[in-house]
Amino acid sequence: MRIEQDIKLDFKDVLFRPKRSTLKSRSEVELRRTFTFRNSGVSWTGVPIMAANMDTIGTFEMFNALRQFDMFTCIHKHYSIEDWGKFNESRQKNDYQHLAISTGISDKDLDRIGIIIEKTPDLKFICIDVANGYSQHFVDFVRKIRDKYPSKIIIAGNVVTGEMTEELIMSGADIVKVGIGPGSVCTTRIKTGVGYPQLSAIVECSDAAHGLGGHIISDGGCTCPGDVSKAFGAGADFVMLGGMLAGHDESAGEIIVDENNPEKKYKCFYGMSSDTAMKKYAGGVAEYRASEGRTVKTEYRGSVRNTVQEILGGLRSTCTYVGARTLKEISKRTTFVRVTQQFNSSMIEK
Ligand code: 5GP
Repeated sequence: MRIEQDIKLDFKDVLFRPKRSTLKSRSEVELRRTFTFRNSGVSWTGVPIMAANMDTIGTFEMFNALRQFDMFTCIHKHYSIEDWGKFNESRQKNDYQHLAISTGISDKDLDRIGIIIEKTPDLKFICIDVANGYSQHFVDFVRKIRDKYPSKIIIAGNVVTGEMTEELIMSGADIVKVGIGPGSVCTTRIKTGVGYPQLSAIVECSDAAHGLGGHIISDGGCTCPGDVSKAFGAGADFVMLGGMLAGHDESAGEIIVDENNPEKKYKCFYGMSSDTAMKKYAGGVAEYRASEGRTVKTEYRGSVRNTVQEILGGLRSTCTYVGARTLKEISKRTTFVRVTQQFNSSMIEK
């Protein structure tokens, strides 16, 4: 047994230290980035904030809304081949810039994406998603997908440490998805005791990835626009959001009206390994997520456009506070101030 004594931090443990800036207004800040990916050699330009591949969040409706802002959607894996067929009917070639098809790692998953990709040759991104990205089987699957699709941009995760980030990039991933346990409806930390404070995971994994010419996504744990900024400040290339995009018109599920107060409206939001998801996909999800997730009622918030504007406005404002003219500069301009003691019981409450 070994205990690591270095300090590991979460979003709530730090704040940005403001820096002298020559920017006059936050409207001057450029949030779009262009990346050229290491293994596929393909480039992408856009605002690197993504909707999570959860079945309430990574919907075609969410994609339609987010692409207006040049943002990205990881389409969830429960859409059928027919659903994709319908979606494809009215699409232009360019539409596929801002979405990924998601998959698990079973033979059935491989067959499914094989058919969809054949019918959707303009698809550029494949997101290979498992709860625990540390298994050899997962690494082998990433290799297999890279061999089969040499020019697709491969996202793979989730992991939280530098050495596994490197392993996935060396095995063919272009972008590594980072985060175990920080999700708003995730119970991994209480069910298994496994996890890693998200800010430190970003710092360590981005360092490992960037050293090899790879990229990372910070996945999970953002609860407000400031957290999104902190994830970029810590070195994330992309930030993935679940809970912050829940409860909108574009999120799947019915609006629930409070029986006692008709003014109050909700939408249901749940983890992809929660009882709700398990029941819905009748066993299909059991192997997808190693640990369970929660089901919550989120306040209904209308169109996602307002929330997106708040997130992008916050991010632009952070950039002006630290003197970053572009999102690309934010991590170079970031000095975090620690604002909590190291031991904080809320780290294990999740
Ligand atoms: P959020 O933005 O809501 O904090 O986090 C979203 C992320 O939580 C997702 O992208 C995914 O990585 C993770 N997640 C979603 N559902 C579950 C679940 O049921 N269990 C666990 N452990 N993680 C989940």
